[in-house]
Amino acid sequence: MRRSHVDRVLRVLQRDGALSRAEIAARTGISRTTISEITGSLLASRSITVVATDALGRSGRGRPAELLALDPSAGQFLGIDFGHRRVHVSIADASHDIIASGEARYPDDAQWPERLDALSALIDELQQGSGVHLSALQAVAVGVPGPFVTAQGTPGEGSGRLSASRSLETELAERFGAAVVLDNNTRYAALAEAQRVTDDQPGDVVYLRLGDGIGGGLVVGGRLVSGSVGLAGEFGHVRSVENGRLCRCGKHGCLETIASTPAILAACAARGLPITTVDELRAAVAKAHPVVDEIIRVAGVAVGRVLATASLMLNPAIVVVGGEVPRQAPGILRVIAETMADELSSTVPAAPRVSPAAYSGDEGSRGAIIALFHSSPLLVDYPDRETRARSTAP
Ligand SMILES: [Zn+2]
Repeated sequence: MRRSHVDRVLRVLQRDGALSRAEIAARTGISRTTISEITGSLLASRSITVVATDALGRSGRGRPAELLALDPSAGQFLGIDFGHRRVHVSIADASHDIIASGEARYPDDAQWPERLDALSALIDELQQGSGVHLSALQAVAVGVPGPFVTAQGTPGEGSGRLSASRSLETELAERFGAAVVLDNNTRYAALAEAQRVTDDQPGDVVYLRLGDGIGGGLVVGGRLVSGSVGLAGEFGHVRSVENGRLCRCGKHGCLETIASTPAILAACAARGLPITTVDELRAAVAKAHPVVDEIIRVAGVAVGRVLATASLMLNPAIVVVGGEVPRQAPGILRVIAETMADELSSTVPAAPRVSPAAYSGDEGSRGAIIALFHSSPLLVDYPDRETRARSTAP
């Protein structure tokens, strides 16, 4: 059975709602015999469902024809965003609408088996809570923290992760029985955010996510770029302080050691403040605690300088700053914008608009799903899932 025939059937049902087999055959131009086979297998996989018969509206004799429609509870696309301390999942139906999403946390030092267990438990919980099922799942996109190498697969500085990522891909393909595509989680987040802002104002975009780690994504010439080995936008590892704290990448003083969530919490602890969680951080920010304000300001200045440098290189129209840090401490956006304005004051036309992110935690898994559809104009030059999915699907 040809995939393109199946897609045509699904598209007609998506566009026109419930139809009989005869109507599907007429509207797709596919033979009745083939339509019978396709609808049989789509019913078996619960992609579609029998919603009614045409008995009421029919005058002729014979058995009433069944009306078939897309199963609204069939999750067909799964987007997964693995962070350093949490996994976020979005499930989309055949119409590309998100029908369920959720998040589970794990410790920073959790290894892949523990992260995968958290993912499985989260997906079970989502299916039970929402009535959504994954028996018609078509494809899975998985974002993992960078530095990470794209599917073209030349190992970069994260070569140790490449083999781990390969086994992750195989593991997930076996668990879900669907093709799996892997990429950088922040690039997926950048895709979701950039698609939103470029709908209103086309142009180049720099995206930065300040969370458990710091990563970024770039839209240049209207296209999402991954770089030669998939490391484009790794702003978190720009050195911001000489002889600063040790970063997870092995260097000292990276932006990530100053402006990520763990770095800000560590700075609070170093100043003797009893702030160990993001909730406590948010509460201290809300009370305008002067030491916390100072820590956020230092972080914002460091981020603003890195983004000003990026702006001088790329001259983007918009800089989008998202992630957990601005959600807990929104004032950091003003510090970032002021620092950038100051840094770029001699070249004012180079100063981009600084925009807060639209999504709050689900940007990575949403972007993963956009990448699976490959429908965004930002992805024209980006490898699609057919060329990128490994032959790991059972
Ligand atoms: Zn680093």
